[in-house]
Amino acid sequence: MANILQPTEKNLRELRKFLFLGGIVGVPTETVYGLAANAFDPEACSKIFEAKRRPANDPLICHISGVEALEQICHSNALAIRLANRFWPGPLTFVLPKKEKIPGLVTAGLDSVGVRCSAHPVFQKLVALCDFPLAAPSANPFAYISPTTAQHVKAGLGSKIEYILDGGPCAYGVESTIVDLRDESQPRILRYGALPTEKIEAELGRSIEKPVATTADESVQHLAPGALPKHYSPRTPLDLRGGIAPEEIQNLSPDTAALLLSKPTQKVSANVHWLSENGKLDEIAANLFAKLRALDESGYHRIIAEEAPELGLGLAINDRLRRASFR
Ligand code: AMP
Ligand code: MG
Repeated sequence: MANILQPTEKNLRELRKFLFLGGIVGVPTETVYGLAANAFDPEACSKIFEAKRRPANDPLICHISGVEALEQICHSNALAIRLANRFWPGPLTFVLPKKEKIPGLVTAGLDSVGVRCSAHPVFQKLVALCDFPLAAPSANPFAYISPTTAQHVKAGLGSKIEYILDGGPCAYGVESTIVDLRDESQPRILRYGALPTEKIEAELGRSIEKPVATTADESVQHLAPGALPKHYSPRTPLDLRGGIAPEEIQNLSPDTAALLLSKPTQKVSANVHWLSENGKLDEIAANLFAKLRALDESGYHRIIAEEAPELGLGLAINDRLRRASFR
């Protein structure tokens, strides 16, 4: 069973050594917990795929200490440097042409690499100690709900890994926003995430291409690797609604959980749950995965959930809810 380690200087130094020797470690970031390995070591990175049962065609994001380390692993460009200066450290991942040193296994055979610089103070310390980039996807069994605490990582992967570095609950609770910057003249959002796309557009002074929404009738082959329609999923079937009417809440069957965006004003039964006190999107995002896990473990036959407004963080929240509801 994995040990949860506190972020003492000594533990961080020992984990650096463990990673250098080819180990994999659960790590905190400001988005979700990651499962990290030395990105230059294909054998170490293969353990990530094995532990998560992640398909080999789903590339890993590499974590670096800052904009000055970009050229270590990829061919950057002026747009990447501009966005890094504005949004790093933070929940924004760039896709850029990879350098030779990054093994093909990390990028699922693609000639591009996903790269990010995390703002989590504990993870930043670990990355700074490592003289190699850390490849780290989310620390969950493939397609299950992403972890936002060290305990979630232990519950999902505890029997497969030795160490989890505890950095407390994740501040954002949804994954990073991914932007394809291979062609500077045509940046594209590949995944909605914790950094709202409006902020990127405001910085660039122009609108940028968005991912196609995932719907039940969309075929998998049109999607980028990793952008699978079924993801972030509880085992309990989840139905996503534009909204949930008060009458439906009053007449809810006991085997069904309702997941509302904000606390209802009327008195409700114990199977009615909510993601925030008053509908703030950052609070909804931060609670989303932990709440889905808790509901999944409560024995309900069905979960009905409400869509967030399609604005700001709401796009990332709805993206996760849609994939969670895909059957
Ligand atoms: P996660 O497992 O949440 O860390 O997500 C990693 C995701 O990043 C993958 O599933 C891809 O969608 C995306 N990604 C990583 N590297 C690349 C790449 N080189 N090209 C396109 N997408 C990438
Ligand atoms: Mg993931």
